[in-house]
Order: sequence, then C-alpha cells, then structure tokens
Amino acid sequence: MKSTFSSVIVSIVICALAGCQGPANHGESKAPSLSRFEYSAPKMGTIFGLTLYASDKGAADRAAAACWARVDQLEQTLSDWRPSSEISLLSQQTLNGPMAAPVPVSEDLYYMLERSLEAARLSDGDFDITVGPLVRLWRRSQQLVQLPKPSRIEAAKRSVGYRFIKLDPAHRSVQLLAPRMVLDVGGIAKGYTSMQVLKLLRERFGITRALCGAAGDIHAGDPPPGKSGWVVRLESLEDKSKPGVYVRLHNYGISTSGDTERFVIIDGVRYSHIISPKTGLGLTDRIAVTVIAPDSTTTDWMSTAVSVMGPEKGLALVEQTPGAAARITKIEGGRIAVWESKRFGQFAFQPAP
Ligand code: ADP
Ligand code: MG
Repeated sequence: MKSTFSSVIVSIVICALAGCQGPANHGESKAPSLSRFEYSAPKMGTIFGLTLYASDKGAADRAAAACWARVDQLEQTLSDWRPSSEISLLSQQTLNGPMAAPVPVSEDLYYMLERSLEAARLSDGDFDITVGPLVRLWRRSQQLVQLPKPSRIEAAKRSVGYRFIKLDPAHRSVQLLAPRMVLDVGGIAKGYTSMQVLKLLRERFGITRALCGAAGDIHAGDPPPGKSGWVVRLESLEDKSKPGVYVRLHNYGISTSGDTERFVIIDGVRYSHIISPKTGLGLTDRIAVTVIAPDSTTTDWMSTAVSVMGPEKGLALVEQTPGAAARITKIEGGRIAVWESKRFGQFAFQPAP
C-alpha cells in the first residue's frame, strides 16, 4: 500500500493536523486539563499523522508509541509491497494455480477481505482488490513511461475478479480461485488503519479526542476541547487561489482520492494510479473525490470507487450509504465541474475571513 502521497492528500492532512480552526463552538464545556500532542511517522509508504489530547506528555508519548506499533502490525499484515506480509503470502499461494483448499487468516486480514468484497459488490466491481496484477503493470508503465502490451493486460485480467475470493466466516478462512492473483488493499487499508488507531487510543488509554490521518484517509474522534469538531480543508481540482471548502466533523472518517501526483503521462494521456478493472488501465478522467462517512474504512474504499464509477453512479452509491456525503470535482471540456451529495452541506462551512 505504498504510495507517494499526492498534493491532494497532503494539504488535507496538514490542515487537519495543524487544527485549522473554524468558528469556535461555545456549546461544549472545556476540558482544561488536556493538552494537545502531535506526532508523525513514515508508515505504509506515506506519512501518518496523529493528533491527540492527553493529560501529560508521558501519557501521550506512551499512547502514540502503541499506535505506531499497531500501524506497523497492520502494515506487516496488509502491505502488498512486502513479500513477507500476510496478504502477500496469501497471494503467493496462487503462483502455480488456484488454491486447492482454504487457509485461515488473521482477524485483520479477514475483515479487510470481507469489507473489500462488500465494496466490490456495491460498486459493481469498480472497486476490486484483485486488481493487483494490473496495478503491477501500471507501476511498470510509470517506470518505463510506456503502456503495457494489450496481451499483457489480457493475461493480467485473467487473475482479476473479486468473485475469485471465497470467504468462509465460520472458519475465518479464504481460498483464492484463480492463478497468479495479487491482492492489493491499498485503496481501503489506510482508512481502516486510521480507525483502528482511534479504537486503540480509546480502549487502552481512554483517549477519545484524537485524529489520525494517513495521507488522504483520516479518522476524527471526539473534537478538541471547546470545539465542536475537527476542521479539514478539502483538496480538489479547483484553483488553489480560490477560498477553500472546509468541513467540520467528529467521530467520522474522511478520504480523498485523486490523481494530482500519482499519475503517468504516456503519449499525452494522463493515467491515474486508480485502475479501471474493466479497461485494465489507469483512469484517464481528471477527477478528485472526497467521501465523508462514520467509518473511515468506508470512506477510503468509496472515494477510490467513486473515482472509477464517475459522478452519477458514484453519488447514487453515496446517497444510499447511511451518514455518507461526498464532493467531487472533475475536469470536463477544460472546465471544472463540481458535484455535492445531499448531505454534504451538513458538514461544509466557510471560515470567517
Ligand atoms: P491513495 O493510495 O493515494 O490514498 P486510493 O485510496 O484511491 O489512493 O487508493 C489507490 C490504490 O488502490 C492504488 O494505489 C492501488 O493500490 C489500489 N487500486 C487501484 N485501483 C483500484 C480499484 N479499481 N479497486 C481497488 N483498489 C484499487
Ligand atoms: Mg481509497
């Protein structure tokens, strides 16, 4: 799940972690004994940021160390960049053909597979973690600045298809039914990880006022003391000199997917690192999608999925997801088009100049 984080993503995190404050909320009582602590660390091929409120530095440092240990554990479980990760070892079992029998997997991996299959069904296969072989071809294209031969794409596609993943909840086991499969949870795992970090802080340390962000995938817990929420400036394809769009949220996830930096231009065409499983190639649409929802596993996969699905189908999916909202910008005919879901206005606000 390594990624060179894009500018879309960076400015969200910086803003969120710097605590860009919108209008103060006077409705909430202050908790004066809490101080703010900020941490960041290179993890999962990107920069993870953590902001938390704790009584003292010792308590905050201990909690942050436990968070990083949890992120490391998830990386060793879920990274397709590491040949020794649990998910890579699982994929490797298909090198010589489909798996003959199911194998039990860890709780974290099983949950990721379960949620990924749900995402694939809801997006009609536009979000599909079996795209790994196509992602590998994309990474090669990026290095060589050359598209893969059609025969290679066709060969890779034979290993792609979420229906090749068979789960057995009773035994928490999985069987992969096609040869040379490569599972890639890079489009869903960072949202899950951010939410897991907040769960750990709450359950082991009693820390609820926290925000964890991994590149474009953020989970926000209870708000900072005296505030009604965490303020995040959305990044989009719009002119950077314009006043930004801000949202305020707590106990919610927010993810942005876009092609601002992770792309390759071949023969004048720009291919995003988000792959259309149907064409086998990176998206050529210029689109940036932000999804907000109570669960950041959902926001992560859905922002990637909506990028593939496009505004119309994508917004229909967002509207039918409880508590979810989205904002999409897309370049159409040289102009920026903007779409906002019905619930988006509940989160958006304009900070006082
Ligand atoms: P980022 O990694 O920049 O946060 P995303 O969350 O949108 O961006 O995830 C993009 C990653 O998801 C890609 O780098 C790749 O690993 C994986 N991916 C690409 N296309 C798809 C797809 N159609 N379905 C599921 N995962 C995908
Ligand atoms: Mg994603």
